[in-house]
Amino acid sequence: MSLLQQLVDANHILFHQGVLDAFGHVSVRSETRPDRFLLARNMAPALVAPDDIIEFELDGAPVDAGDRRVYLERFIHGSIYRARPDVMAVVHSHSPSVVPFSVSRRNTLRPVCHMSGFLGSGAGLFEIRDVAGPATDLLITDDRLGRALADSLGERNAVLMRGHGSTVVAPSLKLAVYRAVYAEINAKLQTQAIALGDPVYLTEEEAGAAERSVEGQVERPWALWRSAARRAAGLAP
Ligand code: MN
Repeated sequence: MSLLQQLVDANHILFHQGVLDAFGHVSVRSETRPDRFLLARNMAPALVAPDDIIEFELDGAPVDAGDRRVYLERFIHGSIYRARPDVMAVVHSHSPSVVPFSVSRRNTLRPVCHMSGFLGSGAGLFEIRDVAGPATDLLITDDRLGRALADSLGERNAVLMRGHGSTVVAPSLKLAVYRAVYAEINAKLQTQAIALGDPVYLTEEEAGAAERSVEGQVERPWALWRSAARRAAGLAP
């Protein structure tokens, strides 16, 4: 299946799994031009079709948008691809269980189960006030903010954006989708564990080992989620 069709599927899966709603987006680095990435035009992810995919330069300039509107926060994607040659796909979302961890002064997102070993090195925290002062709309609307976000991500797999959402990265599109879904699940479980009191988190070593075991099986959830999203959209599974 072409990368473009996979990106369309990723949009539908992330909506159906409750990671994206009308907002948020998923991108993939171009296979032929590593200095470019693919991202939908400005629209709800569940409605994306192949004709809606646009190619972008890493500074956020569209290559072939024509008269199609582009996402305000496209700079998130290009800035991370520029800073992280290992990253092949990026998901930016406002997935609801993760947002509280972006504003909590006491608790940071950490892996509570083996399915979220990719959080073993923790999540970065991006505080937009440090870069652009106390009166922004919290969005990443230019390359300067994108670079600052990429700095906060560092070498980790996720970065929380205070009062806004989160961004998850991976070495493939399927893994980025997997990690975005499980970042949301982990946040829900971690909130429950904190309510019960004093959770035990995975060690970095456990997280790394679990990540290697589970992520080798990414085709299984991808096939399930793709089929479920296509059925929900009235398409042939
Ligand atoms: Mn956003």
